[in-house]
Amino acid sequence: MNAGRNTSVSRGPVVAIDGPVASGKTSVGREAATRLGLRFLDTGIMYRALTWLALHCGQRVDDDEVMGRLAESCSMSVADAERPAIIIVDGHTLGADDLTSEEIDRNVSAVAAGSAARRALLMQQRAIAADGGIVMVGRDIGSVVLPDADVKLYFEASPEERARRRLQQQKEAGSVLEYQQALADTNLRDRLDSQRADSPLTVPNGAIVINTERLDFAQCVAAVISRIDAGSDAHS
Ligand code: C5P
Repeated sequence: MNAGRNTSVSRGPVVAIDGPVASGKTSVGREAATRLGLRFLDTGIMYRALTWLALHCGQRVDDDEVMGRLAESCSMSVADAERPAIIIVDGHTLGADDLTSEEIDRNVSAVAAGSAARRALLMQQRAIAADGGIVMVGRDIGSVVLPDADVKLYFEASPEERARRRLQQQKEAGSVLEYQQALADTNLRDRLDSQRADSPLTVPNGAIVINTERLDFAQCVAAVISRIDAGSDAHS
């Protein structure tokens, strides 16, 4: 159940969705959240916004201490009514063009590997989830950020399928990308995200794995909503 449909709980469910690049977690998670009247946060854009800020300020993205200070001192506010979301970081309003550029893609994994920056963003993410009624997606939500989430889901699909999806997304955004390049990028991001020392991408304890390879968008959304309904009922 969710905050809007059941009055037996005082706060809506906390839902964690993790998974690798282009596994569908953001588009599906956002749609499920909208239908259930829950808030939605894609934590990937926080890492992307921090990367943008570091490059904008001429900071070295691989310097953990510097990035930690930057993450602690910057203020972020996410306006998720837009798709993809807009984030305001230190007074700069960033949209899809800023957040999904190739330069950000190239640098974001280095930022995400830094423990100090991760700690600062984790505090913000937990604060945002504290009131409940939220679907939060990322790489470490069920494992590290919200290990006590009411519902934990993990999306998976083969690298080939995810590379095809990225290709499609890039085409819609007007950029030309070759399939082999998309596959190589996907494999590289998977490796960096799952092999880093701090909060690597992993299937969280207690998570339900949803393979999105053979499901269309509507089927994925339906699968997520039914898991949230079942999981929240179990916790109420
Ligand atoms: O999901 P998205 O591709 O926008 O995330 C960008 C990068 O941010 C990921 O490749 C990952 O390195 C990092 N990230 C993370 N932990 C999260 C969300 C994103 O490390 N919870």
